[in-house]
Amino acid sequence: MATTTAAGRPVAASAKKAPKQLPVPNSDFYQLADVLTADELAIVKKVRTYMETKVQPIINKYWSEDAFPFELLPSFKDLQLGGLGFEGYGCAGGSQKLFGLVAMEFARVDASICTFWGVHSGLAMGSIYLDGSEEQKQRWLPPMARFEKIGCFGLTEPLVGSGTSGGLLTTAKREGDAWILNGQKRWIGNAPWCDLSIIWARDLADNQVKGFILENKTTPGFSVEKIEHKIALKVVQNGQITLKDVRVPEANRLQGGNSFRDTARVLRMTRYMVGWASTGVQMGAFEATLKYTQERLQFGRPIASFQMVQDLLAKMLANVTACQCMMMRLAQLDDEGKLGDQQAALAKAFCTAKARETVSWGRELLGGNGIVVDYDVARFFADAEALYSYEGTYQMQNLIVGKAITGIGAFL
Ligand SMILES: Cc1cc2nc3c(=O)[nH]c(=O)nc-3n(C[C@H](O)[C@H](O)[C@H](O)COP(=O)(O)OP(=O)(O)OC[C@H]3O[C@@H](n4cnc5c(N)ncnc54)[C@H](O)[C@@H]3O)c2cc1C
Repeated sequence: MATTTAAGRPVAASAKKAPKQLPVPNSDFYQLADVLTADELAIVKKVRTYMETKVQPIINKYWSEDAFPFELLPSFKDLQLGGLGFEGYGCAGGSQKLFGLVAMEFARVDASICTFWGVHSGLAMGSIYLDGSEEQKQRWLPPMARFEKIGCFGLTEPLVGSGTSGGLLTTAKREGDAWILNGQKRWIGNAPWCDLSIIWARDLADNQVKGFILENKTTPGFSVEKIEHKIALKVVQNGQITLKDVRVPEANRLQGGNSFRDTARVLRMTRYMVGWASTGVQMGAFEATLKYTQERLQFGRPIASFQMVQDLLAKMLANVTACQCMMMRLAQLDDEGKLGDQQAALAKAFCTAKARETVSWGRELLGGNGIVVDYDVARFFADAEALYSYEGTYQMQNLIVGKAITGIGAFL
């Protein structure tokens, strides 16, 4: 009886000649793994095994259904990667290099799972780690590191996206030992189901942006609506939050977050992470595409044997490798405490733009199957769009770089 390969190629059980053994797709062309210590490599391998065995088999189903795989949460906790890159408070610790490579490994299989983790562990925990008082860190970070409390990060608003540094419409008004928050937040990852929100609001008294920790499920006046009909990162549940006379104790105001500069420190760290994530997306797309071209026959030969196909594959690998090397240098700078906003912005813009290019070549090489989610490349193709725009768009990153290199701000 005839069966078919993943690429739809018929395989006869009685085939006489064993096919030529082709190399297994490998997107680590410049041997990045060699830069890791043995302990770091073990963690990265653990993440790869987890993603390939637990996530890969089910993710296309959840992606198609716009649903989050809650069934994965218990095993995800067991990875013990809450607060990776942060020291103390029950956090996983480790270098920024490790933080980046883990993000890359998550995204190599699925960018939504990477984003879920990035929002919780990077944006939400990072806000408390970087801008919280000692007492706030002691209180909130340990349960978050254990994934007992999941967080989100509310900065963007329905009417204010790129312009959050100067124009937040969500307001905070001090009343005795509490604050009254009013406004809306849009696009907030994890918000429809998570426990804690970091909400950034403009203090009516001094016009500065301040951060607040809100408990979603028990705070009167706090409500969330899930954003429907997305075409990218469909597994991540994004929400529109409404805050109506929400009362937050002063104890829940991030004590080290007194202006947008403090918000930007969190964004610098997570933009660095998106550079790695978009590199991972390219690795996943490259490997899936290469495998497909090795299996798919046209004119009686694997399409990988055609010169023009090899040209695109080589260009995909060049993008992957350029991003890996750029991100590795950025990791060194970060670990040395030298990472600036402009350097994180350059990498975020470059790697997400290259990701768009890489996944579109992959989609092209899969022909019609490139628009079917079952072959994975379509999912990477769509998800790359969200990475390109979130955490600050391509234009905003280049404006940050432009200001640093020219000395002239051109945002307005
Ligand atoms: C899947 C997803 C997840 C997200 N998760 C979160 C989250 O968890 N928390 C959160 O707070 N936000 C989140 N966001 C929001 C995200 O950060 C914003 O979408 C992004 O910052 C852009 O804002 P905007 O969509 O309002 O676009 P706009 O700011 O309206 O921009 C539209 C276009 O105009 C361009 N533009 C704007 N101003 C300028 C200028 N001065 N010069 C040149 N061009 C300009 C932009 O580059 C863009 O191309 C998420 C978004 C997505 C899509």
